[in-house]
Amino acid sequence: MPLESARTVASEPSSMPPRYLTSLNLQAFIQAASEVPYQKIESDLFPGIELWIRRDDLLDPLISGNKAYKLIYNLIAAREQGADTLITCGGAWSNHLHATAAAGARFGFRTLGIIRGERPRLSSATLRDAERFGMEFRFVSREQYHSRNHPGFLEQLNIDPAEAVYLPEGGANLAGARGAQLLGKIIDKTCPIRFSQVWVACGTGVTVAGLSTGLKATPVYGVEVLKAGHSIARDTEYWSERLQHASPTREEMGGEGAVDPICRTSRQEIHLKNQYHCGGYAKCPHHLRAFQREFECQAGIPLDPVYTAKLMYGLCETARVGQLDASARILALHSGGLQGRRGFRPE
Ligand SMILES: *Cc1c(COP(=O)(O)O)cnc(C)c1O
Repeated sequence: MPLESARTVASEPSSMPPRYLTSLNLQAFIQAASEVPYQKIESDLFPGIELWIRRDDLLDPLISGNKAYKLIYNLIAAREQGADTLITCGGAWSNHLHATAAAGARFGFRTLGIIRGERPRLSSATLRDAERFGMEFRFVSREQYHSRNHPGFLEQLNIDPAEAVYLPEGGANLAGARGAQLLGKIIDKTCPIRFSQVWVACGTGVTVAGLSTGLKATPVYGVEVLKAGHSIARDTEYWSERLQHASPTREEMGGEGAVDPICRTSRQEIHLKNQYHCGGYAKCPHHLRAFQREFECQAGIPLDPVYTAKLMYGLCETARVGQLDASARILALHSGGLQGRRGFRPE
């Protein structure tokens, strides 16, 4: 094509839908989320089942995975309140902190990250990114960090909460849970086949709880990635209850970007699997690494050792011991987290 006409084509207004999260509004978010691909997996690691993965790691290069869903209503509310700063907390490899810093840079919020412990001599790749995205940090003692969910936390750190919005660690608030619920509704709308189960990795349990109230008729399975006793089950119950009793948002009442109005009576069963944490949070023993490598080779999809590798490992083990129906059609959610791979050295 001659250069001249190439230029003409390029300058024509595009009718392509926006790719990635380029503007902060629910309509654009739903559009981007509705284009996330579903991929059928051919692999002998999951005998006897039909397995698909929804690639929410591809939702956006930086505001990725389930953290984007947990942020969206929080960001919209912050904009509506006229807040200029987002304050949040997390650890050195936190996916939530990374996504919040990226969202702040993208949509014009200042960001402040509260981090446990002293500033390390060598920052993690996650914190270096966050700093490049413009996030400021406050390093606080373990005792101070411990009270991060108590009222008065910011004041104790001499941070003025005026004109700022405080997002709890991991995006674990009602707006975050609503975002996960939105994901459930989008799955119902866009799934290529009817799935009999949806599987997801669980940390706080907010995502699995949101999914269970968003999906109309599909039971959800959560693979716990940490040794948490009964606390994830309890928190999941708490968030499901809150979502069922929360009043609908303006959007759900039929405003801009309405998906389906929530059917408040729907709430799918949640099955939590607590035997695949592989020793605890961010523990990645040899057998998990070997599994992750094998999966990535066979499926051609990268995983992160903290969340999605444990999800697929739990699913693999469950399929191998024959605990799944032969006719099971399973959707596993790729919830992102790939930036965290940089915290693990190759063996
Ligand atoms: C945070 C995270 C989860 C867990 O989500 P919760 O809502 O805390 O249960 C799962 N996968 C990835 C990649 C995450 O970053």
